[in-house]
Amino acid sequence: MQKKINKYMFLLSVLALILVLTVFMFVTYTHFVKAETNNQKIKLNLLEKSYALNGLTYFDDLNSYDDRITIIGSDGTVLFDNEVDKTEMDNHLTRAEVQGANQNGFGSSIRFSNTKYEYRLYSAIKLSDGIVIRISKPSISLIRIVLELLKAAFVIVVIAALLAAIYSKSLSAKIITPINNINLDDPIKSNVYEELSPLLVKIDNQIKNLEIKNSEIKYITENVSDGIIIISYDKMVLRVNKKAFLLTGVKENEYYLNHCRLIDFKRAVEKALLGENVAQKIKIKDSIYMLITSSVKIENDKYGVFISLRNIDEEENREKMRREFTANVSHELKTPLTSIIGISELSLNDMVSVADTTKFGVRIYKESSRLLSMIEDMLKLSRLDENNASLEFEAFSLNELIVDVSKDLAEHSAKKGIEIVQNLADVSIKGIKTLIYDLVFNIVDNAIKYSRKQGNIYINLTKNTDLIALSIKDEGVGIAESEFNNIFERFYRIDKSHSKSTGGSGLGLSIVKHIAILHHYGVEVKSDGVDKGAEFIVKIPLEASS
Ligand code: ADP
Repeated sequence: MQKKINKYMFLLSVLALILVLTVFMFVTYTHFVKAETNNQKIKLNLLEKSYALNGLTYFDDLNSYDDRITIIGSDGTVLFDNEVDKTEMDNHLTRAEVQGANQNGFGSSIRFSNTKYEYRLYSAIKLSDGIVIRISKPSISLIRIVLELLKAAFVIVVIAALLAAIYSKSLSAKIITPINNINLDDPIKSNVYEELSPLLVKIDNQIKNLEIKNSEIKYITENVSDGIIIISYDKMVLRVNKKAFLLTGVKENEYYLNHCRLIDFKRAVEKALLGENVAQKIKIKDSIYMLITSSVKIENDKYGVFISLRNIDEEENREKMRREFTANVSHELKTPLTSIIGISELSLNDMVSVADTTKFGVRIYKESSRLLSMIEDMLKLSRLDENNASLEFEAFSLNELIVDVSKDLAEHSAKKGIEIVQNLADVSIKGIKTLIYDLVFNIVDNAIKYSRKQGNIYINLTKNTDLIALSIKDEGVGIAESEFNNIFERFYRIDKSHSKSTGGSGLGLSIVKHIAILHHYGVEVKSDGVDKGAEFIVKIPLEASS
């Protein structure tokens, strides 16, 4: 750019100089012609006076006069010429200067002389008797002036060109150097000439906008839950968020494998760099991630790659649970059904004695009831697994609900001679009433199931400044501390044989857990150990009270 500026400034200066010289030459030439014409006019006036005194004879002595003198008669005939033989000269009426003199008294012209074979300056005046006196001399040639001036102009042009070259160089340096020295980190503070200030303000605004956009992008990429990496076609890392760095070791502005030793990751990226999109599970630090690459063609066979890493442990666990659940369901349903089919077969083959009929009938009834309650529990769980948004929260009295549960279980508890001792504060809460009923029912039902005969069950409902607490305490078989978490798993039963006799499905407490999570309640288990009874405490936050 600087060279261009130098060149153009130099050419411009030379051009300007040539232009000035040309104009100057024309002005000078016009001035010379005018001066010479005036000169000729004065001489003609003198010749007119001499002619008036002496007549034509006066001119006979002017053969060696500086200028050429021609006397032309009123009819155009040449009467005298001091340089050319008048007899060889044609009629001069058509000559421009003669015509001018005849019309206006004075005429002049510059034209080519056929007689003298050169450009000449002619001036003529008309006398009172109609005679025209004309004098002429070779015209000052424009070329001559140019040649004369060129000698001087050449020197001037060379000096001017040199000066222009030097000046344009220093001027262009003055223009360019401050631009080169602009501090892009803080352009406004750069030391530049005034005309550049608006440009610097624009650059500064542009940089600030870019910085804002950049930090926005950074903020977003840093705060998304996924790991994000962008790799250029030359395998350099353009961007990586913290999450992805912690997982893979990949660092920004470095070759992507500099600190990464994950074989599966490398394979996926290599494929993506060839334009193939990859979606695969990859294990990093005991967790499973879904690695998804998206290739972007930059030019022929060159691909940039966007990579996302999403933790799918939860999905994986859910999938595992679903598989286990299906296996458990099949197993749980199979057991009572096998028993029912077995009894039916015996009966079909007349292998059941009359005495055993009632016994087998009772077994079929029990197994079928167990099947039914298990299916009901499974349906409840699957409903809880689904979206519960359709279920409306309502305000109701929790103490009244507990009384209802106790009444509904009275027959069950009476069979075992169990007394339910209730100490219930007046508490009103907001929740899904049918689900809270199931929650209380399942815990109280368990307390009866796992209590020894003639025992007591204590139900306490309290409300203090922190929370509402519902405690259901029994004096039954108790729970070892190591089982506290397990009992909330689906189909988990501590003592399988005992459960069979109680008709439990192993789903009751999973339902309790689900309902509690849905309502943001806490459920705590306490037990001093086997045969020392168990206590379930449901903690309800005060916000749930109405
Ligand atoms: P189940 O239908 O077998 O009762 P639950 O999910 O309700 O299934 O309970 C899971 C297991 O937790 C039970 O099988 C039992 O071993 C244990 N359990 C639940 N409640 C009590 C309790 N009050 N006392 C002792 N053990 C209990």
